[in-house]
Amino acid sequence: MVNMKFIADNMLAKLAKYLRATGYNCIYPPPRKLQEIKRLTENESRIFLTRSKKYNKLLPQEKLHIIQSDNFSQQFREIFSKFNLELREEKMFSLCLLCNEPVKPVDKEEIKEQLPEMTIKLYSEFYICPKCHRIYWYGGHTKRMKEKINSIITRK
Ligand SMILES: [Zn+2]
Repeated sequence: MVNMKFIADNMLAKLAKYLRATGYNCIYPPPRKLQEIKRLTENESRIFLTRSKKYNKLLPQEKLHIIQSDNFSQQFREIFSKFNLELREEKMFSLCLLCNEPVKPVDKEEIKEQLPEMTIKLYSEFYICPKCHRIYWYGGHTKRMKEKINSIITRK
């Protein structure tokens, strides 16, 4: 499903980051109060991802997924197959990896002071997070992350 949203439990930071990289909204760190987690799973139809079996007793089954593996690649693959997530080009890197906000296109002129000259020369499209103001572009780091994502998801 394309519009799935998640909350990732503590210790699942890397999983949360990679879900965001593929365009899936994922709250991390999770709210401290169980009430708030419950509220978000109901009001925003989010799934709570956790390694802890104790939540079997605390949240309704359909709002919960207990992750089996402690290995990141396996976790990522598990979530993709369990929820029928799709890798979509237009969704990739549409969310800030740090704060889960949708990034917005930004004019090169506005941000050129903040980046190395070489980066400004080499790339033409830039995106900015409205919350933390981090700037994104499709550079080497992004390409490597995308390759990693592809290899994890397509591995049998
Ligand atoms: Zn941000």
